[in-house]
Amino acid sequence: MEFGAELRATREQLVSFGARLAADGLAVGAAGNLSVRVGDLIAITPSGIGYDEVTPSDICLVTLAGDEVEAAETPSSELPMHLAVYGATAAAAVVHTHSAEVVALSATCTELPAVHYAITSLGGPVRVAGYVRFGSPGLADAAVAALAGRQAAILQNHGAICYGASLPAAYDRAVLLEWLARVYRLARGYGEPRILSQGELEEVSAEARRRRYGERRSQGPALPRR
Ligand SMILES: [Zn+2]
Repeated sequence: MEFGAELRATREQLVSFGARLAADGLAVGAAGNLSVRVGDLIAITPSGIGYDEVTPSDICLVTLAGDEVEAAETPSSELPMHLAVYGATAAAAVVHTHSAEVVALSATCTELPAVHYAITSLGGPVRVAGYVRFGSPGLADAAVAALAGRQAAILQNHGAICYGASLPAAYDRAVLLEWLARVYRLARGYGEPRILSQGELEEVSAEARRRRYGERRSQGPALPRR
């Protein structure tokens, strides 16, 4: 796709996924933020505008160093955290949420354990990064550290951050993370949950690769996607 057309499509995609945040229970009001990498630029949702009001022209374009290229509105206050994730991983999109189950877990636990095998889609048990003030470089550092070997991390008394090879992939991880946190809470209501071992998780990952989950047959041979 031509660069200008790709940028326009990305702006629209960010608006449409932003509009889903509240309905999917991932954030309320203007909380949470989304970004997508387009070439050497990052397109990110604006700060402080409700997702029912954001339009494609409100999406901000910044460089990987955070310099504004095109920004009619103020970029999200979590821009430093998004940039840090792009710098430390192969992310093509980053989703930051304030979902209720995840925030509740973050206030009481240091990790979301493997209560269901689908957690392999996030890279394994999800760490809770220690509390650091929103919008700070310290939060960006804590998030990146908690993401080591993972595609999702929980931020203590704050929310979560997920990334992926596309905005739909990163968003799906945020939804999955919230579901897993809910399942864990429900399981704890029954008693002490049984947790899958590292060996059991590795077996799941190997089988998913063998079955080429996430690929269509029509796409033919390709690298396994996680
Ligand atoms: Zn936040």
